[in-house]
Amino acid sequence: MSDKNVRVRFAPSPTGPLHIGGVRTALYNYLFARKQGGKMILRIEDTDQTRFVPGAEEYIIEAFNWCGIEFDEGVINGGPYGPYRQSERKDIYRDYAEELIASGIAYYAFDTPEELSSIRQQYESEKKTFIYNYEERQKLRNSLTIDEKNVADLIGKGTPYVIRFKMPEDEMVVMDDLVRGRVEVNTKVLDDKILFKSDGMPTYHLANVMDDHLMEISHVIRGEEWLPSLPLHVMLYRAYGWDEPQFAHLPLLLKPEGNGKLSKRDGDRLGFPVFPLKWTDPKTKETSRGYREDGYFPEAFINMLALLGWNPGDERELFSMDDLVEAFSIERVGRSGSKFDPEKARWFNHQYLVTKGNEELADLFEPILTGKGIAAGKEKVSIVVGMVKERANFVTDLWDQSSFFFVAPAEFDQKAVKKRWKADSYEQMIELQKVLSGIDDFSSDNIEQTVKSWIEKKEYGMGMIMNAFRLLIVGALKGPHLFDIVALIGKEDTLQRIDFGLKTIGKKEA
Ligand code: GLU
Repeated sequence: MSDKNVRVRFAPSPTGPLHIGGVRTALYNYLFARKQGGKMILRIEDTDQTRFVPGAEEYIIEAFNWCGIEFDEGVINGGPYGPYRQSERKDIYRDYAEELIASGIAYYAFDTPEELSSIRQQYESEKKTFIYNYEERQKLRNSLTIDEKNVADLIGKGTPYVIRFKMPEDEMVVMDDLVRGRVEVNTKVLDDKILFKSDGMPTYHLANVMDDHLMEISHVIRGEEWLPSLPLHVMLYRAYGWDEPQFAHLPLLLKPEGNGKLSKRDGDRLGFPVFPLKWTDPKTKETSRGYREDGYFPEAFINMLALLGWNPGDERELFSMDDLVEAFSIERVGRSGSKFDPEKARWFNHQYLVTKGNEELADLFEPILTGKGIAAGKEKVSIVVGMVKERANFVTDLWDQSSFFFVAPAEFDQKAVKKRWKADSYEQMIELQKVLSGIDDFSSDNIEQTVKSWIEKKEYGMGMIMNAFRLLIVGALKGPHLFDIVALIGKEDTLQRIDFGLKTIGKKEA
């Protein structure tokens, strides 16, 4: 199905780094837009100037660049519905707010923050909660209780005011959500939300609804935390007589244990990032780790996120961005929250790492080697990564898995020595060294054949020889096929490693 009229948006507030839950929301919007042949818009919702954080918008844009989520319109590339940054649309909102006052749907409120907080305190002391709603508004300082002339005077004198939505007393709001189905809320439980603030800026609610309307957004796909705002939003559309977009509220990303929203603290506690990129708070200088800096491939990151809340309806787990576009549908977004699984995140990275070509991996590994002062040559590095990539989740793991290809062991795993270096090992390894030095064709197969026939002829234990040999070459009992290792490091290095190991470990007393 292709619907050119599909227009979706991701509308972050630049208040800090983007949580991976936000990236997932953007991703689902993106997949939906691409699948339907529609447009994807990036709008910055920066009407709350007290929460503005410098660098946050740039961070958001860089994060999307990194993970391959593209926008058709918005703050990056402009478009016919701009400007796309709400602070630059300031002048549009006030008239719309005034229009609601004229039609009796909203009102001016002059209560100062001090007045409201003292009422709140008084209520608390009586063990009650103060809510600015249909019960209370008649007792407060607003254009419902002050006559028209005095309201005009107050405004004329420059008295600060806000504009509040006059929530009906007892009305059932019926809404439709593509994920949750039919949602009903009685207005009795809702408060008179501020739509326009004393600083001349709209609040999130007014600006968000207006911009979705003005930008002809067809589907609002966003996090579940906005579901409580839905009745107000729907009522605003209805008050203006505008068509409502379709709504889809996505379930939360949950802590690995499943209770509650995934937070930065969970990441710190369990050692995984909750942000796409590293972030340094401009004020506190506190840093938070990012998927990119932790060595995740953007494709793996996207694949993992896509499956946290959506499923393809079959057992498939590996999806490129194109595959996701093809397979995605809102109908298959689950209603309940998805537990974040750090182990699974690493598993996804591993899947992408092993499918990368050895040459590509060698290029990625190269800087790590250079950092360690190793210049091994692309050909050797490609062969090495091909041998060890199955054991790595990240490019950085490649070093742990392959360092012995590039540097001879300087010490030996003591546990392994204790267990595998037997009374006869010393003499046997001297013999083996002789056998090896006699081999001209130092290829893996040929070394293997020669060494094995020597072991058989001597009736030595295969395991015993191979363990001791590995210990001398690698320094520990790990690594890929031993004959592949010695063939690659070459005869000279092999013989030297045996010398050094014999000297260092020495004879074991019988
Ligand atoms: N600015 C809101 C946010 O930061 C947007 C919510 C919405 O998509 O309506 O998440």
